[in-house]
Amino acid sequence: MEQVDTVVIGAGVVGLAVARSMARAGGDVVVLEAEARFGEHLSSRNSEVIHGGLYYPPGSLKADTCLRGNALLYQYCAARGIAHRRCGKLVVAGPGQQPQLQALYDNALAAGARDLSFKSAAWLGREEPWLSGAQALHSTHSGIVDSHALMASLARDAEDAGAVLCLRHRVSAIGCESHRFTLRVTHAEGEFDLRAQTLINAAGLAAVPLVKRMQGFPRRYCPEQRFAKGNYFRLAGASPSRRLIYPLPEAHGLGVHLTVDLAGKARFGPDVQWVETPDYQVDEQRQGAFETAIRRYWPALPAAKLHPDYAGVRPKLIIDDQPHTDFLIQDSRHHGVAGLINLLGIESPGLTAALALAERITEQT
Ligand SMILES: Cc1cc2nc3c(=O)[nH]c(=O)nc-3n(C[C@H](O)[C@H](O)[C@H](O)COP(=O)(O)OP(=O)(O)OC[C@H]3O[C@@H](n4cnc5c(N)ncnc54)[C@H](O)[C@@H]3O)c2cc1C
Repeated sequence: MEQVDTVVIGAGVVGLAVARSMARAGGDVVVLEAEARFGEHLSSRNSEVIHGGLYYPPGSLKADTCLRGNALLYQYCAARGIAHRRCGKLVVAGPGQQPQLQALYDNALAAGARDLSFKSAAWLGREEPWLSGAQALHSTHSGIVDSHALMASLARDAEDAGAVLCLRHRVSAIGCESHRFTLRVTHAEGEFDLRAQTLINAAGLAAVPLVKRMQGFPRRYCPEQRFAKGNYFRLAGASPSRRLIYPLPEAHGLGVHLTVDLAGKARFGPDVQWVETPDYQVDEQRQGAFETAIRRYWPALPAAKLHPDYAGVRPKLIIDDQPHTDFLIQDSRHHGVAGLINLLGIESPGLTAALALAERITEQT
C-alpha cells in the first residue's frame, strides 16, 4: 500500500492553498480531487469578492482569517500577476437603517477592519447618482479577484513545491486511527488504498458527509449540515458602478448585492434558497424577488436587462440543533484523532480567507 505524509481531500481554493503551504513546509503532499478539474464547486460559484472583514463577530475564525487572508491575497495577487482590483465597496442604508449601518461599522472596527468611512446621501448623489441611499459605509480594502487564475497559480505553486495533484480521484472510504489514515480512492481504472499520517479534509460541501463516513471518528463531533443555495442574475450592458454595492446583511447571507467583475460586467446575488441537495440550476422564478431587492437601492433598475446567470451552494452547519455560523476547524484538540483536520462550513468569506486558513493549518500540523 502506498504511504504519504499528508493527503488533502479536495482541490478547491482552500485545499489548493493548504497543499501549497504544506508542501512548502516540507514532506510529501497528495491532493485527491474527485472532479476532472480543480475548483468546480464552491470556489467557482461565488461572487469573487475579496472581503474587508466587516460582518463577522470580533475574534471569530471568519473575522480573523478574513482580515489576514485579505492582506495575504492582495500580496499574492500582486506577486503572481493574478488579475484583481481593489475597487472598494459601499454598504448602503436606506431611510431609517442608519442605526444598523452604525452597528455594522462598530462590529467591523471591533473585529479589526481598517480604513472605513461613512458617506453621506450628498456624496452618494455625486459619486453614484443611480443609487438610492440615506448613507453608506465605504470599505477601501474590498475588491475582486479572478478566482480561476488564483486557483491555477496555487496549484502550480503546490506542484512546484512537490505536491502531487490527482484529479478524478474520489475518496470513497476513510479508516481513521491517530496518525494512520487509510483512504479508499476510486478513479477511472478502479480503486486503490492510500495510507497517510496527516489528513486534511477540505472537501467543501462534502466535508461533513465525509466525516460522517469516517470509520473510527467519534460521532459526537460530527455536525449536521444544511445547504443554502445562492442564485445570481447578470445585468446585460454596462455596470452602473465600478464599486461593489451591498445592502445591509440579512439572516443567512450578505443581501442581494451588485458585484462588478474584472470585465466590468455586473451581476446580482446571491440570494438564500434552502435546498435538500446541492444543485446549480438557477431558479428563474426568483427574478421578481431579485427585482424587489435590487430596487431598494436602484429604483430605476431596467428589469428587462436581468438574466439568470449561475448558482452556488453554501454549507451551513448545525451543532446541538443551533446554527453554527463560524468556520469550524476541527483538529485533535476537538476530536482526539491526531493528524486529522476537518475544515467544515467553509462558506463566505472562504475565498478571501484561503491563504490565512492554509497558514493556520500548516502551523497546526
Ligand atoms: C454563493 C456563494 C458566494 C460566495 N461569495 C464569496 C465571496 O465573494 N468572497 C469570498 O471570500 N468567499 C465567497 N464564498 C465562499 C467561497 O466560495 C468558499 O468559502 C470557498 O470557495 C471554499 O473552498 P473549498 O476549497 O473549501 O471548497 P470547494 O471549492 O467546494 O472545494 C472542495 C473540493 O472537494 C472535492 N471533493 C468533494 N468530495 C470529494 C471526495 N470524496 N474525494 C475527492 N474530492 C472531493 C470537490 O470536488 C471540490 O473540488 C461564496 C460562497 C458561495 C456559495
